[in-house]
Amino acid sequence: MGKKRKMVLSFYCDDTGPYNAGAKAFETFLDFCAEQRIAGESSLILGGGGHSMARKPNEQEAAYLKQVARALSCGIDTHMEIMTHRALFDFGANREKEGAIHEGLWLHEPGIAAAEYERYFASIIAEGEKAGVKLTGLTWPGCGCEPCTKRYAELRTIGRTEPNPAVWEALLNLAKNGKFRGRTIPCFFGSSESSFGCHQKASEGECGVYDLMPNAGDHFGIWENNPKRVNPDYYITADGKAGIIVRHVAARAPYCVWYAHWQGLNPAKGVGWKAFVTVVERIKKHLADRVVWMRPSDITARYHVAGGWGFLDKGGGQ
Ligand SMILES: [Zn+2]
Repeated sequence: MGKKRKMVLSFYCDDTGPYNAGAKAFETFLDFCAEQRIAGESSLILGGGGHSMARKPNEQEAAYLKQVARALSCGIDTHMEIMTHRALFDFGANREKEGAIHEGLWLHEPGIAAAEYERYFASIIAEGEKAGVKLTGLTWPGCGCEPCTKRYAELRTIGRTEPNPAVWEALLNLAKNGKFRGRTIPCFFGSSESSFGCHQKASEGECGVYDLMPNAGDHFGIWENNPKRVNPDYYITADGKAGIIVRHVAARAPYCVWYAHWQGLNPAKGVGWKAFVTVVERIKKHLADRVVWMRPSDITARYHVAGGWGFLDKGGGQ
């Protein structure tokens, strides 16, 4: 018998950028993660401001990118939440394509070829490299706009609820060519508190693409930065006896991954920041010997090598 099995703990933060809370807020967030030795992921949306922030960045963009470049040393991965989180980007013209399909939906459209996805992802990766950032994975940018909602509903009626498999093929090719920071590519698409897993979507040798499903949600204010959507007890109560993290530990789940949004989580204006700090403190107080924090790309790397969660039984985390 090895050491007692620990549950992997991680999180990811969507919609991160310099625009709604400033670059300093991201620095504060990274400092906190480093100091608390926690681990997770925070999205990079290089075209979120309507142009690539890697080309002639303004002061806030430059300050933010400097922080993104140090995220890894603070325990934080950097996924592309695609280029704009809105319409497809025109890399030649350095702007969003007017009237084009939104990126999240585009990843689900059945007619797109792997080569087209690969070209688009490679262009984002190249922008990241201009900013000195190696990307770690891909996060699906969800969208509730009318055309997206309508088309997602149509796709559901013909049984297309998953991304186009060509997305996985394109990501695997880029991983094989060393375009990402690691050989395994964590993606965030599906999510469920009860029926979750780290699902292999493509694999070849030391490379693999995984949909690492979060099994806990956002109770840090969501994208609305809404105080009614803040509840640290959802994760772990003050006495350490209840909450979804405690339940996953009790059920011997291999991991607990939750997600959040920068609008609610950021330390400058986010209504959820205090709750996030509280949750980290409560985990430290009550679960320190039961959990191990890990970056998503570290989770998929170990999972891939071991062919499953077996690495957790060997004292796994460290
Ligand atoms: Zn949309």
